[in-house]
Amino acid sequence: MIIDDTHYDVIIIGSGAAGGTLAGRLAGRGRRVLLLERGGQLPLADQNVADVDLFRKDRYHPARESWMGPDGDPFPPQTIYALGGNTKIWGGVLERLREGDLQEHPLQEGTAPAWPLAYDELAPWYDTAEHLYRVHGAAGADPTEPPRGGAYAHAPLPVEPFLTPIAEALERAGCHPYRLPISWSDQVEDPSGDAEVFGVTAAVADPQLTLQTEAVVTQLHVNPAGTRVSAVQASVRGQDWLFRADRVVLAAGAVNTAALLLRSVSDRHPRGLGNGSDLVGRHLMRPQLTSILQLTSVANSGRYGRSWAVNDYYWGDRNVSYPLGQVRSAGGVLQDPLFAESPPVLSLVTRLLPGFGLDQLASRSLAWWASSPVAPDRHNKVWLNGDRLHVNYLANNREAHDRLVYRWLDTLKAVEADPQVQVLQAAPVHPRSEVPLQVMGYSCGTCRMGDDPTASVVDRDGRCHELENLYVADASVFPSCPAVGPGLTVIALALRLADHLAGGAL
Ligand SMILES: Cc1cc2nc3c(=O)[nH]c(=O)nc-3n(C[C@H](O)[C@H](O)[C@H](O)COP(=O)(O)OP(=O)(O)OC[C@H]3O[C@@H](n4cnc5c(N)ncnc54)[C@H](O)[C@@H]3O)c2cc1C
Repeated sequence: MIIDDTHYDVIIIGSGAAGGTLAGRLAGRGRRVLLLERGGQLPLADQNVADVDLFRKDRYHPARESWMGPDGDPFPPQTIYALGGNTKIWGGVLERLREGDLQEHPLQEGTAPAWPLAYDELAPWYDTAEHLYRVHGAAGADPTEPPRGGAYAHAPLPVEPFLTPIAEALERAGCHPYRLPISWSDQVEDPSGDAEVFGVTAAVADPQLTLQTEAVVTQLHVNPAGTRVSAVQASVRGQDWLFRADRVVLAAGAVNTAALLLRSVSDRHPRGLGNGSDLVGRHLMRPQLTSILQLTSVANSGRYGRSWAVNDYYWGDRNVSYPLGQVRSAGGVLQDPLFAESPPVLSLVTRLLPGFGLDQLASRSLAWWASSPVAPDRHNKVWLNGDRLHVNYLANNREAHDRLVYRWLDTLKAVEADPQVQVLQAAPVHPRSEVPLQVMGYSCGTCRMGDDPTASVVDRDGRCHELENLYVADASVFPSCPAVGPGLTVIALALRLADHLAGGAL
């Protein structure tokens, strides 16, 4: 074991949406920071896939890694171990949670619990997050939009012309489509925004920051009283290292952060670090996602970004008083890694439309994602059996999701029947498919945030209730799983934590 003789102010574990943003925000503030990331830099070619190669089975699955599913069978998780984490392959859609998302509210099945933070407390961090990630959007078109300080600083990105008549027809069908806010940089080769571009780059420019890639953190050690993390153990290119800091921040993502805590057992923490509540790893959530295809009568490139979303069913529908969720465009199917993970929709297309290959699918289809909230369930969990990582997961709130899917199918039929729409085929079927369990990139909830130490793992600042100097910054802290993407909220919470760490005495 090699012991690093530098004593850091802060060690950050993971460089994704949370860790990369946090490191960037601490830059230039006089703190000695160590950023430990298990991956390396993702090659540019892998960041910009926009062809049928996206459907290659090993694309975006870590080599030699499998997790055990609820049926006891191993599955290859879709997740990225690289500088920037999952933001390297995300859609870059960065939306705020709605005010009501942070308050307790009933779902058709279960309850979405309140967050310890109200929307007003998060709003300034959302402003900063949108500014930092150069979010391009248009305020004012979505009726569910929460209050905001002003307009987006950057106008929405241009959309594929063939989509405009569809958005107009959606309006005639009574919907309120709005442009999805998207993170976009001025980098020529890969302009989509991510945590490497907007976080890690600023961090490494600070001479006080040390970046260690290919460093898999394997355990956190505690002092004899069990009240502080005393050292972080990592395997750096196969060699064991020990690092020390005043404060340690876990930002390894909702699955790996929980696994790391559960792996860090000691006399004082026999169930895993900070797990006196027995909640570490529990309440694993991921929004229910179903892709829905429409056939177009005009060819398109299959390589365009996400465009519109509709929140008209977000809080309910005619005669339905509980949330159904959001529908958003997927963009071109040849550049959507989520869609590529849904083989059932492809086999359905092949069965329904013989001779229809991936290229035809891309150029003759339009894909939508229906996304619904789920309720936290303590039986849905990440747990360890020896070294083996297990995921128990049974989706809930399924009927509400089905209602959203069927409602959207009706809406699509109305759009296809609209005489002013020439670009769509009035198809009798709309192939659709739920994303499989292996899509873990949207996971959250395994170290929930709350004021009550018996009912949560971290407090409202992300600090572990049971340890003075251990924080969780990533999507693990979400108490609920709303239908809009988690990305902007993860970034906003990381910015808030950075100011908390930089402001407090270290
Ligand atoms: C295909 C896809 C599309 C998506 N699109 C969107 C979108 O458009 N909008 C949106 O809001 N969300 C989207 N998401 C979800 C979004 O990417 C995640 O919510 C977000 O990245 C979570 O941030 P995080 O910091 O919790 O984890 P991550 O970004 O996953 O970062 C975790 C980091 O920790 C590192 N790590 C893990 N274990 C260790 C360890 N033991 N030691 C050291 N380092 C470790 C990983 O390598 C990684 O870099 C998408 C996800 C996927 C997969």
